[in-house]
Amino acid sequence: MKSPLFQPIQLGSLTLPNRIIMGSMHTALEHTSDPFGRLAAFYQERAKGGVGLIITGGVSPNKAGQMSPGAMVLESATQLPEFKRLTQAAHKFGTKIALQILHAGRYAKQDKLVAPSAIQSPINKFTPRALSHEAILETINDYTQCASLAKQAGFDGIEILGSEGYLLNEFTAEKTNKRTDQWGGDFTKRSRLPLAIIKAIRQALGPDFYIQYRMSILELVDGGWTLDEAQQFAVLLEGAGVDLINTGIGWHEATIPTIAMNVPRAAFSWATAKIKQVVTIPVAAANRINSVNTAEAILERGDADMVYLSRPFLADPQFVIKAQQGRSDEINTCIACNQSCLDHLFENKTVSCLVNPRACHETFYPDTKPPEKIQKIAVIGAGPAGLAFSIEASKQGHDVCLFESSNQIGGQLLYAKEIPGKEEFNELLRYFQVMLKKHKVTLHLNTPIQANTFDVSSFDHLVVATGIQPKKLSIPGIEHPMVLNYEDAFNAIDTIGQTALIIGAGGIAYDMAERLTHPTSQKNNIPSFNQHWGIDTGNHQPGALSRQPPATAVSHRHVTLLQRKPGKLGRTLGKTTGWIHQLELKKRHVSMFSDIRYIKIDEQGLHIERLGETELLPADNIIICAGQDSNNSLIDTLQTGAINVHQIGGARSPTKLDAARAIKEAIDLAYTLNSMENKRC
Ligand code: SF4
Repeated sequence: MKSPLFQPIQLGSLTLPNRIIMGSMHTALEHTSDPFGRLAAFYQERAKGGVGLIITGGVSPNKAGQMSPGAMVLESATQLPEFKRLTQAAHKFGTKIALQILHAGRYAKQDKLVAPSAIQSPINKFTPRALSHEAILETINDYTQCASLAKQAGFDGIEILGSEGYLLNEFTAEKTNKRTDQWGGDFTKRSRLPLAIIKAIRQALGPDFYIQYRMSILELVDGGWTLDEAQQFAVLLEGAGVDLINTGIGWHEATIPTIAMNVPRAAFSWATAKIKQVVTIPVAAANRINSVNTAEAILERGDADMVYLSRPFLADPQFVIKAQQGRSDEINTCIACNQSCLDHLFENKTVSCLVNPRACHETFYPDTKPPEKIQKIAVIGAGPAGLAFSIEASKQGHDVCLFESSNQIGGQLLYAKEIPGKEEFNELLRYFQVMLKKHKVTLHLNTPIQANTFDVSSFDHLVVATGIQPKKLSIPGIEHPMVLNYEDAFNAIDTIGQTALIIGAGGIAYDMAERLTHPTSQKNNIPSFNQHWGIDTGNHQPGALSRQPPATAVSHRHVTLLQRKPGKLGRTLGKTTGWIHQLELKKRHVSMFSDIRYIKIDEQGLHIERLGETELLPADNIIICAGQDSNNSLIDTLQTGAINVHQIGGARSPTKLDAARAIKEAIDLAYTLNSMENKRC
């Protein structure tokens, strides 16, 4: 039976060959020296991968709507040649492309920001100016002008962003629209601006111009609208001439996760289904749709007509073509970590992807030619760095032998996948496993490398990817049997006692606390997720927030996190996910102490000094999560002679190590190797 994903569909005047929209993503490429060249390469690669429709990153209709200084804006015909590069890149492979028009409203990180009312967002240091009636009329003109320019640039349509708490959403929400003129007040007046914009664009550009609207269906903030109101608004959108409704979940200031790894897949398609019930135009489901099975299930249930995937196209530009050819197991799955995409945005860095460092950097990693001389390469260590390197080098045509001392691949990923809410790491392991076979890497498991028996001279290159080992601390009594490093603790998690102290407060410490306090029986399913975070699935609650307080998580262990440094714990956690981990541990009553001096460990527990007082913290176990050292002593013992030796990932440096860095170093080395080889030839 043909997959529902590959049934053609008519969206207004557009005919698409499949049901997959590549969703809008901010890439921050506009801040680079070649924004349009790099964006064109980014879109072209995804178009080549077979997606039906690409939605660009948000482009503002005027300067007041820019997300930040330098963010993309389309307001003049002089910009058309640049924007045409994007449409040509998509059209080269027959893919449709629509421009997303985004007015950031009170979320704009610049001081010219505007909003319906002068109410500051809790996540922005700038306070907006309330738009005057005249300025609202100008804004309508700006949207129309932007849409008209998009059409002239060759875009097949537009997406108007009216969700996630941006300007148009601020107009529709009572909490941010306190106006008393015709643009504020009751539901009808609050809905007026987006509808006026759609009607103006429709009038200017005719019935065939494709318009999709991303509306907010679950606001997940106090004072947000009810699902009843969302349904009423969807009907108004259809009446105003929209061709497709895309469904947005949660404002950016919501304190409920909507796209992080701990959100179940397709967690919100039940809400999309409620919109689909009341309109006849197609509806798209979004958020946490990262696999072919999940996407197909949404369509088969009839929750939506289209699926809207964004980050999965960072992870794998060939998502669609692999699905179409029955090669879903080869898809490099977006694991929803946010580490190299959204976190990069918050750090003012160009977006990329943990599992695919080429994302948004396509021009730096061009397609390679087969090497003139095949190199024989030994890779030691099958963690993320060793795996990523072996696959990429082998794909490029080299002969790669991968040696792993244990009986399985994965390295640190084997711990990560065991953390409740981080099960998506299993997908990365599956991808590596499949690609090792596909690209014919010779894998030697259970093969510890010994200097006296390993014949390095039979290889041209040696890649040391032996990773890291837990750092040892020198606290008196550290050798006590109750003390474990994090690797030993993960390997014997069921033996950890009721009272556990964790020394350290970085990512591994938080993961350990989560693992220790999470009941193993709790499934990460949608009803329990909704209950846990207080999401109401009825139609009548403002913001879809339950009137019952979110369920308190019960932990069967008492866990305490400790750090030497003064100040708040968890500062090194990801910008877009750290708050979720903090909330989770708070729900589980994990204690946190900073500014600690460790005195000694004995039978009674851990003796510390805090606030000038000595204290005893009783413990069944003390777990050391206080960083890592490189595990690279092997390199000193091997007689490497004249062969090229490379170190990557944790073996190169334990500082700021994560899977993103390990994989990027691996891919970079594979590319460097090829260019070294080409130079030599
Ligand atoms: Fe997905 Fe993580 Fe890649 Fe972002 S960095 S696209 S969340 S896998």
